[in-house]
Amino acid sequence: MDVVCLDLEGVLIPEIWIAFAEKTGIDALRATTRDVPDYDELMGQRLRIVKENNFKLGDIQKVIEELEPLPGAVSFLDDLREHYQVIILSDTYYEFTRPLMKQLNWPTLFCHKLVTDPEGYVTGYKLRQPDPKRMSVKSLHQLEFQVFAAGDSYNDTTMLSEADMGFLFRAPQKVIDEFPQFATTTEYSELRILIDRASGAGAPDAPKP
Ligand SMILES: [Mg+2]
Repeated sequence: MDVVCLDLEGVLIPEIWIAFAEKTGIDALRATTRDVPDYDELMGQRLRIVKENNFKLGDIQKVIEELEPLPGAVSFLDDLREHYQVIILSDTYYEFTRPLMKQLNWPTLFCHKLVTDPEGYVTGYKLRQPDPKRMSVKSLHQLEFQVFAAGDSYNDTTMLSEADMGFLFRAPQKVIDEFPQFATTTEYSELRILIDRASGAGAPDAPKP
C-alpha cells in the first residue's frame, strides 16, 4: 500500500505568513523556512514581531480566511486521494488552517498547535515532536506502507529523504541546488506522473518473492 505525504504551504496553499505580511505591510514577516532554515529561530522571530505589533490570533485568522488554495491544488488533491492515501505533513498550526482545509475537502493533516493567552495573544507554539515530518514517514514505514513525499523547502528535506521517493515541488533554486538527489517539478500534472511512476516501480501489490 502507498501513502503520499504532501507539504502544505507552497505546495497546496500560499505561504500563510507571507500573506499576513502583505496584508499588514510588515515586511519582516515575509521570511519563511526557505529563508531561515532553523524553524525555532524563524518562529521566535515571527512571534516577536506579531507581539510588537499587538496582533492577536484572531487578526491572523481573519487574513487566512481570505486565502484560497493554489490554482489547481483542489483537483490535484481530490484526484490523488482517489488513488492513494494522502497525509498532509505541515509545520503550520491547526489554529491557522481550518478555512483552507475546508476548501481542500478536509484531508488528513498532521501539524502543530499554537499557545495563546486568555486575551487571544499568541504566546508560543507546541511542536508535536522533533523532526515531525521525517518521524511521520518513519512511522508509516513501520506500518508497512510505501511512502512518497513532496515538498518545497528546507523543512521538507528530511521527509523526502526518509520517503521511498521524494520530490521537490516549486522549490527555490537554492534548495534544488543543495538537494540534487530529489526529482523536481513545478506542475501538479508532472508531480502526479512522478508519483505514479514511483508507485508502479515499487510494485507494492506484487507478491513478495
Ligand atoms: Mg512548504
